[in-house]
Amino acid sequence: MLNKDHPRYQSLVYREKIVEAHKNGILADSGMIAHGRGETFDYLIGEKTTDNSHNTIDVSACYFLTSKHPVLSVNGNTTALVAEDIARLSKLLDIPVEINLYYRTSERVANIEKVYMDLGVDNLLGTDEDDFIDTPDLNGPRSPVSIEGIKKADLVFIPLEDGDRAEKLAQNGKNIISVDLNPLSRTAQTSTVTIVDNIVRVLPELINSIEKHVDMPRSQLEDKINGFNNKDNLDRAINDIITRF
Ligand code: ATP
Ligand code: MG
Repeated sequence: MLNKDHPRYQSLVYREKIVEAHKNGILADSGMIAHGRGETFDYLIGEKTTDNSHNTIDVSACYFLTSKHPVLSVNGNTTALVAEDIARLSKLLDIPVEINLYYRTSERVANIEKVYMDLGVDNLLGTDEDDFIDTPDLNGPRSPVSIEGIKKADLVFIPLEDGDRAEKLAQNGKNIISVDLNPLSRTAQTSTVTIVDNIVRVLPELINSIEKHVDMPRSQLEDKINGFNNKDNLDRAINDIITRF
């Protein structure tokens, strides 16, 4: 049992979720290491959503509300930490969830599929029954994407994505929103919009922001998008870390 008075209680709760997901065949070994890297950067940003990230989340909401075919790409870490919120977001916008794993095995896909089925997600892609196509110039089990999902999408939401894949998606003309605590990672650097924050804080906030923006005229949403520059966003995220130091 975790002690609620522990100063790092919240962080330990997420760790426990990660360990649990690993035991349940949802998370690959390397997913645990990726989480540890994330914890380090979260410590550096102060384990809170910065003003800059609040704004970036609002810009992301504008992208969701103005895109034709947004897709939520999920992996083991995302499923371990925020599966309920992913299901809520998918229902709110009526958009697909695509299982998209770096170390894809039928067993992990089936375990992750069950999590989203149990949460009532009907529009679930990337399962073993799906029709796939390889991402150009990307080899191995991480290459296939769903023809009805990421292949067709104009906007792909990729929490905790690998840099190679993020680069290829960008080269294929997709708008990409990533969530990555490391503002220096290739994923962060190649995305259209990078939310430098912990996925556990981002999703509830993103859902609120979409609800807040949903009735706004399209021109206002587009103005917000056009006023955003990801390079400046990342510079501010790095500056926030330096200031804390
Ligand atoms: P890249 O491949 O993009 O250059 P990387 O190799 O450093 O980055 P990966 O292991 O491919 O990183 O992916 C893990 C990334 O996810 C890390 O940048 C880490 O900071 C981030 N991350 C881990 N946990 C979380 C979390 N809970 N919320 C947001 N980001 C996270
Ligand atoms: Mg990587």
